[in-house]
Amino acid sequence: MTDQRIFNFNAGPAALPLQVLEEIQSSFLNFNHSGMSITEISHRSSYFDKIINDAADRAKRLLKLDDRFHVLFMQGGASLQFAMIPMNFLSDSDSADYVNTGTWSTKAIKEAKIQNKFHSVVASSEDKDFSYIPKDIEFSKNARYVHLTSNNTIKGTQFREFPDTNGVPIVCDMSSDIFSRCLDMEKFGLIYAGAQKNLGPSGTCMVIIRQDMLDMANENLPSMLKYSTYSSKNSMYNTPPCFGVYTIDLVLKWIEEEMGGLEKMEEYNIKKADLLYDFIDSSSYYSTTAEQYSRSLMNVTFRLPSGELEQKFVASATEKGLGGLKGHRSVGGCRASIYNAATMEGINALIQFMESFEKENK
Ligand SMILES: *Cc1c(COP(=O)(O)O)cnc(C)c1O
Repeated sequence: MTDQRIFNFNAGPAALPLQVLEEIQSSFLNFNHSGMSITEISHRSSYFDKIINDAADRAKRLLKLDDRFHVLFMQGGASLQFAMIPMNFLSDSDSADYVNTGTWSTKAIKEAKIQNKFHSVVASSEDKDFSYIPKDIEFSKNARYVHLTSNNTIKGTQFREFPDTNGVPIVCDMSSDIFSRCLDMEKFGLIYAGAQKNLGPSGTCMVIIRQDMLDMANENLPSMLKYSTYSSKNSMYNTPPCFGVYTIDLVLKWIEEEMGGLEKMEEYNIKKADLLYDFIDSSSYYSTTAEQYSRSLMNVTFRLPSGELEQKFVASATEKGLGGLKGHRSVGGCRASIYNAATMEGINALIQFMESFEKENK
């Protein structure tokens, strides 16, 4: 128990920028002189209209999206997207390519399978426990889309560059690295991200979809499972996750105005990750689990000499105000999730702790 805010390395829900939390706190009871909390305002009001449009505009500016792209706010997390993507884009004769780089890709593939949609897993890193990102992938010529997971939250790997797919649009799960770096949007037909890693509270999913993807989507679906329902109603066919959208707007404002935009955000993220990886590389006590060229800038997975020491490490870190360092339950080990909101101060504190833990537990 603590009265202080900790250095939060949780994988998700994860740390948010302190300024954002403070702004939420200070306007929570009376949003923008409305006399109401953001959680009490009608989504049909001009107050909320402004918020949702502002959030979409900021997303467009940050990613330099042109008018072909629509920014949508949905529910059901990234996991609903796994199901909606094949549902919307594959008819009985179409097929899609999937690259399997870990737990989340596997789940995305499972949803195509459940629906009996044609798909090929054109590359996988399962042979080495998903510790790397496959290279030189041969994509099908006639695929409707190529599905990738840009950052593998659990294994700590990341596409540092996106492959050439011969013009086939990439549909990408960016749940754990959206807005962490600049993107060449020409390659992408659809990007989606559950908010709780890098954007805001859980319960909201951001989807960025290109017009030609909307044009080819299957219309013969329940309203809530069609992208066109969201794009034609400014994400307000039904009541949207208002608080989530509001928080995302503030987080994007923070990236634009406090961090100085996506280029600066990326530089900062590289600096933070480099510092931590350099330290781990220089140590014979700690070791990373991901191959060097595939390492994630967002989730640093590492091991200690034994499982026992790892347990002690996590417990002792927690006592010192460094939280969330336990690896995913499926893989064990340790993981420091260092999303946009993680500070250099937190990285330095973590490294200092790791140094002293090593000395005391040789
Ligand atoms: C966390 C995560 C998900 C799952 O998100 P939900 O919002 O819980 O459905 C999917 N993909 C990636 C890459 C993730 O990190």
